[in-house]
Amino acid sequence: VGNSVYDIIIVGLGAMGSAAAYQLSQSGKRVLGIDQFIPPHTNGSSHGDTRITREAIGEGRVYTPLVRLSNLIWEDLEKETGKDLLTRCGGLVFGPEHVETGRHGTSDFLGETIAAAGEWGIEHQILSHQELVKRYPQFKYQGNEIGYFETGAGFVRPERCVQAQLELAASRGVALLYNTPVLKIEPKGGADGVVVTTTSGIYESEIAIISAGACLAEFLPNVWNSTFEIYRQVLYWFEPGIDIEAFSTKNFGVYIRIDHEPQNMFYGFPAIDGATGGVKFAAEQFETVSNFDTLDRKVAVREIESIYQHVGKYLRIKPHCIRSAVCMYTVTPDLNFVIDRLPKYPQMIVASPCSGHGFKHSAGVGRILKELTLGQNPSVDISSFSFDRFGKH
Ligand SMILES: Cc1cc2nc3c(=O)[nH]c(=O)nc-3n(C[C@H](O)[C@H](O)[C@H](O)COP(=O)(O)OP(=O)(O)OC[C@H]3O[C@@H](n4cnc5c(N)ncnc54)[C@H](O)[C@@H]3O)c2cc1C
Repeated sequence: VGNSVYDIIIVGLGAMGSAAAYQLSQSGKRVLGIDQFIPPHTNGSSHGDTRITREAIGEGRVYTPLVRLSNLIWEDLEKETGKDLLTRCGGLVFGPEHVETGRHGTSDFLGETIAAAGEWGIEHQILSHQELVKRYPQFKYQGNEIGYFETGAGFVRPERCVQAQLELAASRGVALLYNTPVLKIEPKGGADGVVVTTTSGIYESEIAIISAGACLAEFLPNVWNSTFEIYRQVLYWFEPGIDIEAFSTKNFGVYIRIDHEPQNMFYGFPAIDGATGGVKFAAEQFETVSNFDTLDRKVAVREIESIYQHVGKYLRIKPHCIRSAVCMYTVTPDLNFVIDRLPKYPQMIVASPCSGHGFKHSAGVGRILKELTLGQNPSVDISSFSFDRFGKH
């Protein structure tokens, strides 16, 4: 990086920042991307091999155009790089019928998923309890579950997506600065330009994209301090309790099990690395708030025992954890995203609080960030992702 003046600086090159860098790489603008580590890495929110993607989004119908845009971009990227990024192995949402679920922007996640599929014409099947039992012997059932199966759902590979986008961005002239913590992002004066101070130098630009994930709040005015909460999450890979073939992408897809008891809700993936890799799943927690600096990155034995007790009731796994990983959700009060210009500072565009469901949309978010920075109309309606809705200013 020889220059100190750019048109656009992207702070944070995880899911959102790498997508923005890739999208902006053919814009004719001078773009600099900065990260405190070498992405993809395991210190943020975009690691752990796989992320679920589905088009009927129980979190809200506004998300379907965004995930569809992302899927087109992943497929273009696959053609361009020859890498496998998106696997459409099918996806299941299942659980007791008419169960109340909290914390996902709706009280009826399964019902909302089915309604979204109807509204957007998404190919799917509704599975009766008998059909579920027949098709999915990988689960243990309680007797009243039903399912929604989406043919085109599946998973994306977060590390590969981040890497592919950054490599393409760099090859098309985007300057990338790694291992460089950003200390401050300040307006240059009024609504004009920004100054980005890093540990190794000061950079200026017209516009900054702030996609710093769980560290985002550090760069926002104090009024936003308590708006976004960081929740530690753990991913687990357990030994399968039945033949691993049953969990292969040929026989199994991604799934979300819903329940009125949050501890009985979990989601998971097919086994992408055979028996040695194990069966990946995770539950979510929204009780204990963390922060990036003090995050406990180790997984305790008691956490492993406890997750086995809960998930082992429903999933055919053995009580042997092969691997685990700690990750973070950056969560807004209504569990939706923020993709918006910062109030009073239109030269700063924020795109990171994704409330734990952002990866599937990230390629599309990159496209929107490009459009916002270039002063174009976003190709997807982002009015639900504004700062305004928090009523803080
Ligand atoms: C366990 C888990 C499971 C998930 N499952 C799914 C799923 O199945 N489907 C789905 O769609 N989504 C899922 N998500 C959500 C999704 O992964 C996230 O929304 C997304 O990855 C967040 O991307 P980001 O770019 O905002 O943050 P990150 O990828 O964390 O990127 C932020 C970047 O900013 C950099 N940075 C921070 N501070 C500074 C600084 N001061 N200076 C320089 N650089 C800085 C960091 O190093 C990092 O690289 C999951 C998340 C987790 C944690």
